[in-house]
Amino acid sequence: MPTFFIEQFGCRATQADGAAIERQLLDRGCTSAATPTTADIVVLNTCTVTASADAKARDAIRRLHAANPAVRLIVTGCYAQRVPEELAALPGVSWVVGNSHKPQIPLLIDSLSSVTPPYSANDFFPVAALHSDSTVPFHSFVGAELAPPNSPHLAKILTGNIFDRAEFLSAPVLGGEGNHTRPTLKIQDGCDSRCSYCVIPFVRGKSRSLPPDKVIEEIRRLIVGQAFLPVRVRSESLCGSLPAREIVLSGINLGTYGRDLSPRVEFEELLRRILGETSVERLRISSIEPLDVTQDLVDLFASTDRIAQHFHMPLQSASNRILAAMHRWYRAEHYARRVELVHERLPHAAIGADVITGFPGETEDDHAATVAFIERLPFTYLHVFSFSKRPGTKAAALSNEVPGTIIKRRARELRALGEKKSAAFRQSQIGRTLRALTLHPSSELMGRQTPALSSNYLRVFVDGVFPANQWLDVRVGSCRETYLVGQVSESVSLQKQ
Ligand code: SF4
Repeated sequence: MPTFFIEQFGCRATQADGAAIERQLLDRGCTSAATPTTADIVVLNTCTVTASADAKARDAIRRLHAANPAVRLIVTGCYAQRVPEELAALPGVSWVVGNSHKPQIPLLIDSLSSVTPPYSANDFFPVAALHSDSTVPFHSFVGAELAPPNSPHLAKILTGNIFDRAEFLSAPVLGGEGNHTRPTLKIQDGCDSRCSYCVIPFVRGKSRSLPPDKVIEEIRRLIVGQAFLPVRVRSESLCGSLPAREIVLSGINLGTYGRDLSPRVEFEELLRRILGETSVERLRISSIEPLDVTQDLVDLFASTDRIAQHFHMPLQSASNRILAAMHRWYRAEHYARRVELVHERLPHAAIGADVITGFPGETEDDHAATVAFIERLPFTYLHVFSFSKRPGTKAAALSNEVPGTIIKRRARELRALGEKKSAAFRQSQIGRTLRALTLHPSSELMGRQTPALSSNYLRVFVDGVFPANQWLDVRVGSCRETYLVGQVSESVSLQKQ
């Protein structure tokens, strides 16, 4: 069987897809290579949320091909779904597989490995062999039809109508910020909304959910540390599976979880089931749309210390005119009410927001409204994005574009405001005791301090050396530019024997 390497890009949902592919390949007896240059096959799992995400994927393809011209590159993910022919024309690409056909990648790899030389890196296996056992209709064509005449680089494309897809591809992902101590479990994919700037529904399809019994099964396996086959995040090394103490639930539009299931399940109901039927010590919700933050949900968060006090709610703009143009379904006052709801019940909760600056037609007044709104509310951090025109979206057809220099200046102002809010929040935590989960220390800290993450999403450096994945009660003594510093007031291991 061939060796493979998965090169990951993009959000947690895309990384969960990569983890699922890795799980499938290892199950079939393939071996994971330590680096892309030593692999027979590299699966590049792409993102297309911005033009710069596209550029990163193209650069990676060129780099991988230059480093190892014999490697077979299979390019998949959101970019592959959006414009497969663009990727198929790049040197070294053997296959482009859209999100619609990601589950077929293992079959594709089996097929590639069964072919014997003479064979070059840019030869292809007949497409018919791939779906001989599949009843799922799909669209495939040969890149040669699209590539320039005489191009030596002819990849095959396997993609189809993403809105027809009902499968759910997911496996827990290790890695990310927690350096393997806080796995992410994708429980929802796709989106039924149509925000005018967003390409995600067109590359991920309609909203679909992992059934509650499966969610619980995955969480139970994570808790005992046997759940996941390791997934590599970019070139990080593989690691073993620690019993998970904090699990991050993710999705594209998490608040819509369960609306596609029969019988329908509410997201809050799922959380209650997880708390009741598993011994998970802390759950964290990756992101949730503001109107899905209901009184009941906030009450549930406030009723237990097993759900992290952390709400990440995309805002995008606080100008009602721009929100309407974005086809967002709330107005600034509705959003503000949700923030107040959280802050009233959980005054120390982390409250984060995504903001897009430079949406077509955004005036200085619109920008000022967003700045004033953020200043007024108790946000604890911001993720600021510059508007990126995504072909095929409604916003891409708008003519009143904001000049790049103005977008940059507005983004700078918003980032500075976000840093000011974060600093004020960190300052407010001095003297408090936070329950934090230790992370793997970076090498420069070895022997001096241990990083840990609090329920309210603050990074705390604790004096002394502690193993990763342990609960510590940390008395916060001071704050630095981007983190807190504290000392253990009491070390508590919640590990169940
Ligand atoms: S809710 Fe809007 S921004 Fe979020 S994925 Fe759906 S369409 Fe995109």
